[in-house]
Amino acid sequence: MKCPWCGSEMEMGVIQSPNEISWQKKSRLFGKAELHPDSVLLSEHSFIKGSAVAAGLCRNCRKVVIDYGDNDNTEE
Ligand SMILES: [Zn+2]
Repeated sequence: MKCPWCGSEMEMGVIQSPNEISWQKKSRLFGKAELHPDSVLLSEHSFIKGSAVAAGLCRNCRKVVIDYGDNDNTEE
C-alpha cells in the first residue's frame, strides 16, 4: 500500500483491540456498530482472536490507513 500523502511504501501491520473496531461519526456511550447505521464495522469482536484490522503506517507523515474493503487480511 502506497501512502496517499507522500507516495512511499507503507509499513503493513495491524490495529488490535479486545473489543470490536469500528469507525463512528462521534464518540458514543454505547458505540457498538450494529446500533448505529452510519458506522462502519472494521473488525468484528472475536473471543478467540480479539479484533484486528490490517493497517498501513507511514512514519514520515505520521498517518495510518485502514482499507476496510478487505475483510480478513490480518492472518499471518
Ligand atoms: Zn507518507
